[in-house]
Formats: sequence, structure tokens, C-alpha cells
Amino acid sequence: MNSEKSLRTRNTHEKKVKSAVRKKLGRADRTSLNDSLDGEVKAFLIDEGQLHTYDDLTKVNPVNPTTVLKCLQARYRAKVFYTHAGCTLVALNPFQLIPGLYSLDVMKEYHCAPQPTEFKPHIFIVAEEAYRNVQGQVEPVNQSLVVSGESGAGKTWTSRCLMKYYATVAASSLVKTQDTVERLERRVLESNPLMEAFGNACTLRNSNSSRFGKYIQLQLDRGQMLVGASVQTYLLEKTRVAAQPMNERNFHIFYQMMKGANDEQRKEWKMAHGQRFAWLPNSQKTLEEDCFEETVEAMKHLGIDAEKQGHIFKILAGVLQLGNVTFCSTKNESQPCDIEKQSKDFVHNCALLLCVPEEELQTCLRVQTLRAGKQSALFKPCSLANCSVRRDCLAKLIYAQLFEWLVKFINESMCAEKSTWCNFIGLLDVYGFECFQLNNLEQLCINYANEKLQQHFVAHYLKAQQEEYVSEGLEWSFVQYQDNQSCLDLIEGSPMGVFSLLNEECRLNRASDAKQFRVRLEKELSDNSSMSWDKFSKLPHFTVAHYAGKVSYQIEGMMEKNKDPVPPELIHLLQKSQNPLLHQLFSDQQTEDPGTRGLKSVVTVVSKFKSSLESLMKVLYSTTPHYTRCIKPNPECLPLTFKKEEVIMQLEACGIVETIHISAAGFPIRIPYTSFLQRYALISNSAFIAQRTSGNALLSLVSVLFPPLPSQP
Ligand code: ADP
Ligand code: MG
Repeated sequence: MNSEKSLRTRNTHEKKVKSAVRKKLGRADRTSLNDSLDGEVKAFLIDEGQLHTYDDLTKVNPVNPTTVLKCLQARYRAKVFYTHAGCTLVALNPFQLIPGLYSLDVMKEYHCAPQPTEFKPHIFIVAEEAYRNVQGQVEPVNQSLVVSGESGAGKTWTSRCLMKYYATVAASSLVKTQDTVERLERRVLESNPLMEAFGNACTLRNSNSSRFGKYIQLQLDRGQMLVGASVQTYLLEKTRVAAQPMNERNFHIFYQMMKGANDEQRKEWKMAHGQRFAWLPNSQKTLEEDCFEETVEAMKHLGIDAEKQGHIFKILAGVLQLGNVTFCSTKNESQPCDIEKQSKDFVHNCALLLCVPEEELQTCLRVQTLRAGKQSALFKPCSLANCSVRRDCLAKLIYAQLFEWLVKFINESMCAEKSTWCNFIGLLDVYGFECFQLNNLEQLCINYANEKLQQHFVAHYLKAQQEEYVSEGLEWSFVQYQDNQSCLDLIEGSPMGVFSLLNEECRLNRASDAKQFRVRLEKELSDNSSMSWDKFSKLPHFTVAHYAGKVSYQIEGMMEKNKDPVPPELIHLLQKSQNPLLHQLFSDQQTEDPGTRGLKSVVTVVSKFKSSLESLMKVLYSTTPHYTRCIKPNPECLPLTFKKEEVIMQLEACGIVETIHISAAGFPIRIPYTSFLQRYALISNSAFIAQRTSGNALLSLVSVLFPPLPSQP
């Protein structure tokens, strides 16, 4: 089988570069490119005026990036935003509210239709198919809806639509709270704005960008009714709390508080009108997401009472004060740095809001405690730079822990008892492939997750389909596809993979050196074809050829990010907090004894991420997947604007053309041998029947009766 599998020779990255070069060309050159694209299409397509009516990209002929692009563009122009691509749904972001597209009536139409696929392509078809599939032919099967695409493509929007759909068509249940009886569906839906307030931020690519990944399981009872939900989150970008990239913002919740607090709250939270906070850049921007009341309302419905809300907001207000604390060096180097005069009030307010002893807060920001044995301790003043690192670390620590608590609370509020549900539909909304000018550990983790998802996709649709044909003995011209196993081996391979080597380096607990690590990577991993190095680059780095293109990762800072060290003094401080919630967040946290640091027990960022991803993949492989590929038609998020170069890059990144080829050339109908025999034995000869007595899909006979279309070149 393997010998028949041919790897895609085309280099996606090369294409990406070419297309980036084209982008840089002047208008005239671009026009000629467009003309040549047009020419190529015209040569094949009979009725270009009808292109927008092609509901499935498998119908364009021939299937190639140009024709697919042309068809999507025609549909976009005609305000048709969903198109099937065989087994996948392509969703183009209109960047504009389309009246009636997601209305209750439309939901009902798809839900009640005997054959929803006969209607226009829509995300509700995917939703309904998954819903009906849960029943299964023999036994119930859990379903997964995987929504992918780059930042701003519409993943979160799509997930929300799907949740609304199920909250509508599968609505039934009631939840009893202390004094009210309310609908569970409302809680499930309210979890969205709440998690978005804490986990989303305005970035250059999306004004409501999710800075974490999530997998929501909607739990269904025997009657297919929604009885609960649970959510798992991945890799919150906590660095954003203390450092916001240029022209981007912090998490929405801080701006919501700043804009929505009443006078009393302002006084309590030390947030006077016009107060400037270093960690709240671009607060002059007004966003739809800045709605404080909506967050408070969602909290209320999820059972976070006024008292708990008070604790949460005070913690957040304390974090903001911390951001305004700056340090200055003293003349005597053996003395700790000073807190700058103008920051004194902020430290005071911070201690007040976090309910921790002010003196101790000041000390632990500036002095490191070194334990020498069990009893004695040494105190070492931190460098000026290190004081800021500790301040930022404290903020990140608090925020990440608060987010985790919130997710846990939401889960407790929505999750049904195990005995009451039997199946689930999972919705996966994770960050898409990332390639910036500078990439570090965060991008490596995100792109690794995307590699895993791509492998899942390939395994499920492409490999499974092709292998099935081989096992059925069918003539089949193999579609070339990119197998990303070598890239996955490079990253997750053990004992020799980037993650393992990185962990090993971190566990050695020596002053990590980027150059040295680069040499080690080269020594151990140079044989892998997915790894390369730019000989001319000054900074130590390594380049990985991902399925969606090559990405260069900076090594500087990677070890530190992976260790993500937390000074134990900070945890001790927070454990003393009189704010019951803050105290609870850290009450059972083990602090690492510096004397034992470097032991194998250190849980690194990549090992945590890898294991949470592994459990996600296990769940995904146990379900029937449905893929939706969201496409961002222009980088500026302009309404109804379609830029060919942008779209084609995304189509290539997710291998959509290969998917269409397989779907177009494959056999769409599969019937188990016995039932097929019952139905069609009459028209076949007995020799054939005698020859075949088993098999799970009688594709051979189907191929005789209904030969497939010739496969596309
Ligand atoms: P992602 O999660 O992929 O980063 P979002 O789902 O946040 O992207 O979408 C970005 C923005 O695009 C949304 O805030 C919304 O304004 C717009 N958008 C996305 N999908 C649609 C849609 N189907 N109809 C209208 N607007 C949309
Ligand atoms: Mg999102």
C-alpha cells in the first residue's frame, strides 16, 4: 500500500513565496496575473456565468486551484458564502451581517428537511448531518465538528452558530438553581461571551481574536436532547496580560471594566475616569466586545453570584495596578532596586486589591529567596530587569489561574451527570496555522496542533478512502497527497524530537544557551527532511517545513518559555491573600523548592500541551469528524471583499484541492455487502456472487454498475 502512496512533490511553501512575491508586484503585474488565471479557467469552463450555482466544488471541471478559486469568487460575489468541497464545507467570511442567514426559520428548515443536503450549502447542513449521525446505523456514534482556518476566518463565529443551532433544535432541559429554574441552553450559550471576555482580544488580524483553543462537548441524552455541555481549553496566551504587541490590546475584560464600571465600582477598583494603565493600550478604540453588562449578565446566568463577581473584578483591578509599577536601580548594588516614586501608589493599591501584605508584595518583586537547606534562607536582590520579569510573572500567574478557575466553574455549571447523557457532539475551535516574522514556542505549539489536526483529516478522509479502495480491489488512480508524518516525527519524536530535546535541555537546569541548543538540534535532527537551517541567519533558529508552509523558529528564549518558571515567593504571597477567591486559586499549589529544581519532575509547557493534545486527539479519533474550512477573503476584514491571492494561499494551506479530487473521483455510495446483495443480486451473475461472500462495502460491484467519473489530472 505504502509503495502506491506517492508523496506530493509540490512544495507548498514555494508557492506561498511566489504568491507573496506576486502580492508585492505592482497593479499592472497583478492584472496580468489575474488575466492569465482567467484565461486558464475560460479554457475549461463552459458556462462561466453559472459558476456561482456550483454548490459543490467537485463539480468544477477541471479541479485545480484556479477553477476552485474562480468558483468561490463567483459565489462570493453572488453573496453565497458556503460551498461544499466533497466531504468538507468551505465557509467564506462575509465580514458583514447577512440578514436572515442564521434565523430561526432557516434552522427549522434544515432541521425538518427530509434531506438537508438538497438545500443550499450551509453550516446548518453540517450541524444537522452530525446530529442525525449520532444515532448511527448500528449504534450511536459521537461526532466532532472541526472548524479550522486562520485568525479572523470565522471559526469562533461558526462555532457559535453551531451551538445556537443545537441549543435550538435539541432544546429541552431545565436546570434548577437555588431560586430559579432556567434553561440549560441559555447557560451553554452564555458561556461564549464569558469565555470570550476573558480569553479574546483585539489583534491586528481580528478585533475579537480568541487567544486560546477550545473543545466543547454538547452532551445529548437518549432522545437526542441537549442535557449538558463541557469545555476544555488549550494554551491561553497569558503573556498578553503583561505585554501587548504593538497596536493590539489586552484581553477584553479589562476594557469592559474600565468602560462599564459605575462610580462606586470605580472607587473600589481604583479606576478613576481617565486613569491610564500601562497594560491597557489602545483603550480609545471602541469595540462591540467592550460590553461589560453582557459579561456580568453571563456570569449571573452561569451561577457566579455578586460576591464572587466582586472577588474576580478586584483581582483583575489589582493586576492592572501592578502593570503601572516600575523600578529603578539603587546606588548600592547589594541593595534591592527601588520602586519608583510615582509607582508607590500603584503598589499600595495593588496590595489592597489583591488583599496581600504590601510589604511582602514589595519584597517579593525585588528580592529572590534562595533556600539553603530546610531552615536557612538567603536573600538576593534582583536585577532591574529581573524585577520587571517578576512583576509580569505575577500578573500572568494570577490571570492564567483565574481563567482556569472560570472554565472549571463554567463546566460545573453546564456539565450533566454522566448517567443522564450518552452521546456528544464536539465542537473544536482552535487557532489556525501561524507564521510571523518572529516565531517562538507559542507558534511551535500552535503549528504542532495544526499538524496533528491535518494528520487526523488526512487519516480520516484521504487515507481511509484510498486504502478502502485498495482493500476492495478497485482500480484507482491515486491522488497525490502530503503525508505530514515526518514533520510530526520531527516535533514530537522520542527520544529525538524538538520537544524531547527541548525538555531535556530544560531539565538539565543549566544556564541555557541558544547556540548550543541549535548545535544539538542540528546534530540529532538533520536527517529529518522537514528540518532545515538558514545558513545566513544571525540568530540561532531552526526551520520546520509544515504542511502549510515553512516556519522559522527563534531559539532565543525558547527554553525559558518552556520552563515558565514561577518564583515560589510569588505563590507564597498569593496564598496569604485575604481575597477568598485568590486564596483558593493558589491554596493547593505546590511550590517548587529551589534546591530540588532541575529534577525530572519539572512539567514543561510543551509536555503539558502535548499531553492535553494527545487526549483531544484520542477523543477526535473516536468520533466521526466533519470538517469546516473557514476562509478569510481579505486581510483587512473588509466586508464583501475577495482577494484572490489571500484565498488561494489558504486553500493551499488546507489542501482543499486534493480533498476535492478525492471526493470527486471517489465512490460516494457505500452499502454493506449483504444488503447490497439482497437488493441487487437479481441483476448480477451467480458466479460473481459466489466469488464474493464477505466484505464491508461491495464497491467492486458498484464499480461495475456505476463506474466512477474519470479521476482528475
Ligand atoms: P476566528 O475565530 O477564525 O479568528 P472569528 O470567528 O472571530 O474569527 O471571525 C472574525 C470576524 O469575522 C467576526 O468578529 C465577525 O465580525 C466576522 N464574521 C465571521 N463569520 C461571519 C459570518 N458568517 N457572518 C458575518 N460575519 C462574520
Ligand atoms: Mg476565534
